[in-house]
Amino acid sequence: MENRLDIAPISEWGMFEEPRPCVIAGPCSAESEIQVMETARQLKAAGLNVFRAGIWKPRTHPGSFEGVGAQGLKWMQRAKRELGLKIATEVASEKHVFECLKYGVDLVWLGARTTANPFLVQEIADALKDVDIPVLVKNPVNADIDLWIGALERLNAAGIRKLGVIHRGFSTFAKNKYRNEPGWQVAIELRSRYPRLPFFCDPSHMGGRREYLKEISQRSLDLGLEGLMIESHCDPTCALSDAGQQLVPQDLREMLMSLTVRENDSDSLEYKENIDQLRSQIDVIDENLLNLFASRMKISRRIGEYKRDNNIAIIQASRWDTVLENMVRKGNELGLSDKFLTTVFNAIHEASVQIQNDILEKK
Ligand code: PEP
Ligand code: MN
Repeated sequence: MENRLDIAPISEWGMFEEPRPCVIAGPCSAESEIQVMETARQLKAAGLNVFRAGIWKPRTHPGSFEGVGAQGLKWMQRAKRELGLKIATEVASEKHVFECLKYGVDLVWLGARTTANPFLVQEIADALKDVDIPVLVKNPVNADIDLWIGALERLNAAGIRKLGVIHRGFSTFAKNKYRNEPGWQVAIELRSRYPRLPFFCDPSHMGGRREYLKEISQRSLDLGLEGLMIESHCDPTCALSDAGQQLVPQDLREMLMSLTVRENDSDSLEYKENIDQLRSQIDVIDENLLNLFASRMKISRRIGEYKRDNNIAIIQASRWDTVLENMVRKGNELGLSDKFLTTVFNAIHEASVQIQNDILEKK
C-alpha cells in the first residue's frame, strides 16, 4: 500500500530546527499587522521557528470573521523577513496557492473542509505542480480514511513529495468533551498504512479549549507522531476566531517543555534484545489465539447446523447475556477491563452469529 506514496522524510523539508516534536505555532487568524508581528516575535523568543496564521477562514456561519485575505500575507512575509521564521497558512483554492507563492509562504496545509472535497484538492494539487514546498493535509471533517488518503494521492501525483498529515479529529452531532472527536483509531490506521508519512496533531482544533492542549499533545507524542500544530496568540481573549483554544507564546513554551517525547526506537542492544523477546512471546500468543478462534468457530458451525436441523432460531438473547456477564466477571478478576472484554466477546459473538446465519441461508 505504502509504495503508492513517494514521501520525503521530514528531515529533508528544511523547516524544523528541533527534530521532535516539530511545532507549527501561531494565531488561528492573522488579524492585524501588529498582532501578527507581536505574536511572531513572542513565538520566536519562545524558541519556535515555524509560524502559522489563517488568512482565509472557512467559518461555519456567515458573518463570522472570515480572515483578512491576501494583505495578511504581507504581514507574514514581514515576520519571515525580520525574524527569520518560516511561514505557513491554509489554502482552499488555486487562487490561495498563487497568492501564497507570491508572498513566499514556506508551507501550506489543506483544512478539514477542503480535504473532504476532491474537486478542490485536485485544483490545489494542480496549482502546486512543480512547487517544492511542504504540504500538510488535515483529516476530512468526517472520519473517512479513504478520502484522506485520496487527497494525499492527488497531491503526490502532482509531484509533491514533502507531504504530511495533520490529525484534528472529526465532527460529530453529539457534543463531547472535545470540540472534535479524536478518533485516534483512524490516525493509528493511517500511521500503520504509511509509517513514513510525517504526522502532526492539531490539539487546538481537536480540543477546542486551552486546558485540553497538554493531554492531547502528550497523547499524540505517546503514539509517536512527529509534530504538533498549535494555535497561539499574543492576546488570546481578544482573538477574532477561536479565542478559547489559543495560548500566549510563553504558556505554549511551558506546555511544550512539560511534554515527554517518546523515542521511536533505541540503539541500545539490551533494549533490542528484550523487545524482540517480548515480541516473540506476543507472536506465539497471537497464534494460539488464532487457533482458539478457529476451534471456537468450528463448534459454532456445528451448533448452527444442529439448530437448523431442529428448526431453532439462531439467537437466544438470554444465553448470550449470561455468557457475556460471566466472561466480564472472570475477565475483571484477571485485570481485564469491561470495555476490552465486551468489545472482544461481542465481536466473537457477532462472527459466530454470522456463521450460523450463513448455514441457515444455505439450507
Ligand atoms: C485552522 O487550522 O485554522 C482550521 C480552520 O482548522 P480545521 O481545518 O482543522 O478546522
Ligand atoms: Mn482556528
